[in-house]
Parts: sequence; structure tokens; C-alpha cells
Amino acid sequence: MRILFYGTKPYDKIWFEPMAKDYGYEITFVESACTKNTLKLADGYDAICIFVNDYVNDKMVDKLYEMGVKAILLRCAGYNNVDIAACEGKLVVLRVPSYSPEAVAEFAMALLLTVNRYTHRAYARTRDFNMSINGFMGCDLFGKVAGVIGTGKIGQAMIRIFQGFSMRIVAYDPYPNPDLPVEYLPLEEVLKQADIVTLHCPLTEETRYLINKDTIAMMKQGAYLINTSRGDLIDTEALIEGLLERKFSGVGLDVYEEEEGIFYEDHSNDIMPDRTLARLTTFPNVIVTSHMGFFTKEAMQAIASVTLENAHAVENGLPLKNQVTHT
Ligand code: NAD
Repeated sequence: MRILFYGTKPYDKIWFEPMAKDYGYEITFVESACTKNTLKLADGYDAICIFVNDYVNDKMVDKLYEMGVKAILLRCAGYNNVDIAACEGKLVVLRVPSYSPEAVAEFAMALLLTVNRYTHRAYARTRDFNMSINGFMGCDLFGKVAGVIGTGKIGQAMIRIFQGFSMRIVAYDPYPNPDLPVEYLPLEEVLKQADIVTLHCPLTEETRYLINKDTIAMMKQGAYLINTSRGDLIDTEALIEGLLERKFSGVGLDVYEEEEGIFYEDHSNDIMPDRTLARLTTFPNVIVTSHMGFFTKEAMQAIASVTLENAHAVENGLPLKNQVTHT
């Protein structure tokens, strides 16, 4: 099988190269993202492998089909970047539904602990022998109310972490899981009661801008907001307004609605054209990270192994247990 890997970084090769050899697959790694302009590179390949900031729209699906590409292998869980309906009857789409929910949940907690206790800024101060702690007062998480939006695999890992901090946990999910140690409430009630709101639902038409001007108004004064799911869950302009009105004690964002083309690249010598992102990073109580919640050894190994198992299933006509379909 010949597979073209879009948007590859050195850390992808470390995991995929040795495993692909075991399968006898020929992999070509390209650094370019998958876009309409780079699609022609896929000519002659059986499958393309893409990541969160690549996209495949309906026109690109038709082109891939014409070129004889049979499968889109997503080396991630989310699939909002592929027009799944357009793929029906033309290309199979497979994903890695779960690799390490703990990796993302632990990172969400790291963001919360950092914005709450200012460890990122303390690190910078002490390196300059500025030993003042002015402005760094946080709050105990013990006894606070955590609001979990989406109680799937990552939400559940987050709940286990919050339990370790002896927090009260309220949750919203349209499909509640009665086995979880949480109190399910309507979304509005979760937003009203939670000291910390953390987003773990997928991006769908229903969840786009779940956090907006109106829902921010429902949140507690001084709440913390953590998003490790997808950037479009938050209306960033409304978030900035909330930050300017001092609504939030802290905000941790591993994802951003316009991250495509910006995240995963070194722009340190560029003039940042995205004014909203530039504004966000100026707030002392906001941390933005570059969509790296998944980035642990365990997760990378699992991503590589499941992606290649998916390719193997396509090649050999085996059941496609990780297929994404429109229905
Ligand atoms: P999952 O499918 O196991 O769980 C998602 C949960 O969200 C489900 O319980 C579902 O019922 C619920 N849900 C659906 N619609 C909802 C709504 N309108 N409101 C509230 N909840 C809703 O998914 P998961 O593995 O827990 O992943 C969650 C998300 O995390 C993914 O969709 C992806 O966007 C994101 N993610 C981010 C990273 C990262 O590196 N930052 C890595 C992996 C996944």
C-alpha cells in the first residue's frame, strides 16, 4: 500500500516509519498541509493520511476519487475537517477514535493549574531574579465546582482527575452516562454553577460557538474556562469581550477557531496577521497552546499503531471498525 502523509513533522516519522516497515507499506511524508493546492501530490497513492488542520472538502473528495485514492486515514479522533457525506461511495474514512484520553485530560488540568497559579509567569520572573509574587494569587481547587461539557472518553478522564482534587463535579451531555460520579444538569445550569468549565464535546453544527456572548453571561463571575476540544466551540470575539469585562479568572486554550495554517508552525519571526490571536495572547490570565493536548509518547504510539491497523483493514477487506460514516 502506498500512503501519502500530509502535514508531517519529525515526531510523526519517529512513530510511523518503523511500524510502516513491519506492514511493508511505502509511506511518503510531506510537510505541506492537505489543501486544494497540494491535493495533486496524492496522485498514484492508495491512501492519504491527514491530521487536525488538514482538510478535505467535497470537491477535493471528487479529485481524490478520480486519482484512484481509496482511503482517508485520519491520524486523530476528530473528523470535522473532512466532508464525510461527500466521501460516501467514493472513499472510506477511518480515524483513531481513542488513543490516550488521559493525555488530553491531563493537559487540560495542566492548563487549569497553570492559569490558576501562574507557574508560567513565576518561571519567567525567577529566571530574572524577580522574586516578587505580586499578582500571582490563585484559588484552592479543593471543594470548587467543576463543570464538564461532554462526558465521553476525555471528559471521563477529566472527571477522574477532578475527583482527585476533591471537587464537586457537574456535567452536561445530551447522552448522560448514569455510571459516572457526576450530577448531570442542563447546560445553562452547569454554566451557572461551575467555578471551572472544561469543554470535551466534539465540534458539530450544534456545538459551534457553544461558548458565546449569551452563555458567557450565564457563567459565574471569576470562572475559569478550559478548551482542549476544538477552537470553534468558542466565539473568540465574545471571549475577548468577556476577558475585557474581567469575567474570567483564567482561560486555557489548546485550540483556537482560526488555528489552521498557524498552529504547528514556527511564526516567531513573522508579523502575526491574526489580530484576534495576537490580542488573546496579551491577557495575563490567558494561556494559548498549540493544539498539543494529545502529545505524549503513549498517545503517539497508539495513533501510529491504530492508523496502520486501519490501513491494513482497508487493504485486506477486513471489517472497518474505525470507519467514519455520514449516518
Ligand atoms: P467522545 O466521542 O468519547 O466524547 C464526546 C462526548 O461529547 C460524548 O459523550 C457526546 O455525547 C458528547 N456530546 C455530543 N454533543 C454534545 C453537546 N452538544 N454538548 C455536550 N456534549 C456533547 O470524544 P473524546 O475522545 O472524549 O474527545 C472529545 C473531543 O476532544 C474530540 O471531539 C476532539 O475535538 C477533542 N480532542 C482534542 C485533542 C487535543 O490534542 N487537544 C485530542 C483528542 C481529541
